[in-house]
Amino acid sequence: MYSIFVVSKKKKSAPRKNNLVKDILIESLSEDHVKVIDKLNKPKYDEDIADELDVKATVIRTLLNDLHENGLVEYDRSKNKRTGWYTYLWKRRDDKINDYVKGYLSTKINDLTSKLNDETQNLMFKCACARVPYQLAMDSRFKCSECNNNFVEHNNSEVVDDIVGEITRLNSLLQQAE
Ligand SMILES: [Zn+2]
Repeated sequence: MYSIFVVSKKKKSAPRKNNLVKDILIESLSEDHVKVIDKLNKPKYDEDIADELDVKATVIRTLLNDLHENGLVEYDRSKNKRTGWYTYLWKRRDDKINDYVKGYLSTKINDLTSKLNDETQNLMFKCACARVPYQLAMDSRFKCSECNNNFVEHNNSEVVDDIVGEITRLNSLLQQAE
């Protein structure tokens, strides 16, 4: 079981929240990134994580660099006096993980909200290859230059329902992350 994302052991909602954080990290990054985060229950060298996961160190470094770009890990760099090479001791930034999850959810909600506005404020038209708003369909005289089919009005209520459903889902996840 994953017990690494414990924000506060006092909170009863912690296990559910841990799953949420893990799910979001998998969705926004990948399962491999989460495996690396899981291994950083204490500071480790990339070679050690590679050994534990039985993966090449170069793969682990790539994953760690992604995590670093997203502010989820940090490192201490030191020079090996004998070899002259640098070694990196990696640490998980538990303080940043929840903010990252909230930021990811907020961005998605904003994107979907503007998409929803487009869908509800425009009459939508459809050909064999695309869906376009009224203005675009009219500009091309209701004929698609790509597939040569006519643009016909498209009832987008299903699309709208899907977007509303997804926004609702993300909002409830965001509430859990608060
Ligand atoms: Zn078309």
